[in-house]
Amino acid sequence: MPAARSLKKTTAKKTPRATVPVRAAQKTTPAKAARKTAKKRPAADPTDPQRVQTILDRLAQHYPNAVCALHHKNAWELMVATILSAQCTDVRVNMVTPALFKRFPTPQAMAKAPQAEVEELIRTTGFFRNKAKNIIGAAQRLIAEFGGKVPQTMEELLTIPGVARKTANVVSGSWYKIGLGVVVDTHVMRITQRLELTKSTTPEKIEQDMMRLLPQASWIDFSHRVIHFGREICVARKPRCADCFLEDICNSKDKTWSTH
Ligand code: SF4
Repeated sequence: MPAARSLKKTTAKKTPRATVPVRAAQKTTPAKAARKTAKKRPAADPTDPQRVQTILDRLAQHYPNAVCALHHKNAWELMVATILSAQCTDVRVNMVTPALFKRFPTPQAMAKAPQAEVEELIRTTGFFRNKAKNIIGAAQRLIAEFGGKVPQTMEELLTIPGVARKTANVVSGSWYKIGLGVVVDTHVMRITQRLELTKSTTPEKIEQDMMRLLPQASWIDFSHRVIHFGREICVARKPRCADCFLEDICNSKDKTWSTH
């Protein structure tokens, strides 16, 4: 018996090996081939007017009364607060401005302010030397050129020390209710990119893109609403996508949760 078993073992034919390598065989499955030859559907345009309008509508629905978070009583105070808000939170600015405006309540008073004293009052907002110089310079320019009043046109606003397009847009939009442009701060920048409304990477270019894309009547509210949205939902790190009212139309690579 042991001899017979041994004979059977040695004479048994081996199953021939597949001549096509396994990987190659997988590559050519009918399903894969079909997928390969199938035409790709063109990706939907994220700047499609209907999608843009949906974004505007939902922002309006969720933030109907969004306004500027910087405390102010007039255009001058708003301009100063906005200059101070560069690289600083609105909360911090609101902590600093009551004492600043109490000590130097008008452009006339600020124009004569000792820089060291202004620096001390605004120190915690960061870049305080440059900001103090700009605020005093802005007050002096208002008195010299604009009768002590904050002007309303972009051209005039941009001649004021410390005022770039963002500050000019905040003042004209929030105080004068004139939509000269779109405020692009860190929240607007991040969210317009995540929603694929722009491919630009600088505030200046993003503003131009938004001005082309959005109806002018929406410029002022759009920024206020996006800023609130950016603070509450679409935060910089770990956006709260599970709670987001734009999740179904958002394809951002930063998403933390997705239904599609
Ligand atoms: S789904 Fe997420 S990433 Fe997209 S807009 Fe909403 S919070 Fe932002």
